[in-house]
Amino acid sequence: MKKYIAEIPKLVGESVEVAGWIHARRDMGKIVFVDLRDSTGLLQVVFVPGNQELLAQAMSLRPEFCVRIRGTVNERPEKMRNPNLITGSVEMLAESLEILNEAKTPPFEVDKDTMPVNEELRLKYRYLDLRSERMARNLRLRDQVVSFFRSWLRNEGFIEIETPMLTKGTPEGAGEYIVPSRMHPGKFYVLPQAPQQFKQLLMVAGVERYFQIARCLRDEDPRGDRQFEFTQLDLEMSFVTQDDVLALNERMMIDLIKEVMPDKRIAETPFPRLTYAESMEKYGIDKPDLRKSKDDPNELAFCWVVDFPLFESGDDGKLQAMHHPFCMPNLEDIHLLDSDPLKVRGWTYDLVLNGTELSSGSIRIHNRDLQNRIFELLGMDSEEIEKKFGHLLEAFEYGAPPHGGMAPGIDRLVMLLADEPNIREVIPFPKTGDARDPMMGAPSILAPSQLKDVHIRSDV
Ligand code: ASP
Repeated sequence: MKKYIAEIPKLVGESVEVAGWIHARRDMGKIVFVDLRDSTGLLQVVFVPGNQELLAQAMSLRPEFCVRIRGTVNERPEKMRNPNLITGSVEMLAESLEILNEAKTPPFEVDKDTMPVNEELRLKYRYLDLRSERMARNLRLRDQVVSFFRSWLRNEGFIEIETPMLTKGTPEGAGEYIVPSRMHPGKFYVLPQAPQQFKQLLMVAGVERYFQIARCLRDEDPRGDRQFEFTQLDLEMSFVTQDDVLALNERMMIDLIKEVMPDKRIAETPFPRLTYAESMEKYGIDKPDLRKSKDDPNELAFCWVVDFPLFESGDDGKLQAMHHPFCMPNLEDIHLLDSDPLKVRGWTYDLVLNGTELSSGSIRIHNRDLQNRIFELLGMDSEEIEKKFGHLLEAFEYGAPPHGGMAPGIDRLVMLLADEPNIREVIPFPKTGDARDPMMGAPSILAPSQLKDVHIRSDV
């Protein structure tokens, strides 16, 4: 069994096997140096004269060949040590080499930062792009962040529950991806924009503390740094006030930074709290960047923005939910629902980090009549309400507890922690700005027979 490169410094004097990819090869006269890379780091391997066959084999190695090498781990002489490498105190003296698979010349160099490379090319060859150090580091950071959330939340009594991908629409304010049903001609599933209704129904089910690393799918027009699939840390709690949800999330973020990114500094704790009105008045925006210095990559300025209006006025002059239609109106404003709905504040909140909206959340409505009234204010008639949300309204009639939650975006959070300029750098397989996957070639045309199976006729 091979040893991982990160373990090699502990194995001085032993003959061990390593395996990975050729990162670089340097021929120094009769000696060949190879930097071998595996998922844990880089190791210098030396091929010396003596075994001519082995040396000739080493000279044939090219970048990204996949190899297995056996050799003895030696301490490097003092002045040859490389403090920048986790294995910088050692090197391997090769005894045998097996080429497991040759590699074509990669379309870009993976031993360098791939940021300047054309992005379409990086996405087409994402499996090579992910070999580069920065991208591999981002994958690991993402894993650390997700693992942290899992164990932290479990410790607080949350349980992780998966909710369906094939479901019925839940309005989070974006378009929906639809999936035709083969077994039910003319009917469609919808991919979830968020597990919003399911998590609320889990509160009715008595779960009290739920979380999920939730995949969300939104068919939106390309805008800025947006992805059509993204991941949220979706959570929901019963019997809580807004302050409870904010306090728990604040503690979680502070502990995350301490554990995963100890070099970063949170500008201010407790996180400053602004109302939506204050934020708009002072900063002209609902996601203010409160960093003292925008040049300090280690400064993290979190803040809460609270008291968002429950509604805004849509292009057609109709009311629309500012966040989503399940948010609880602030009880102080509830008397304005009919007379001046745009003045009604919601128990809604956003968590903002360095000017990026990291999360939205709210206390939810858990009362049938109130929820029905909100749907009506949003312009739905009773038939539409029953068709779309009858199940939720009915559930509220079975002792639904008061509840609330939020859903921090994992991609954005990891992006900010990794100091990356966009979320594609921290998503393993992102889509292009126009929703394509150049590697898989998605979306793609299906065979007419496949379409027929799902009762679809295509005009293109
Ligand atoms: N489901 C909401 C969203 O995706 C977040 C929440 O209210 O918990 O925007």
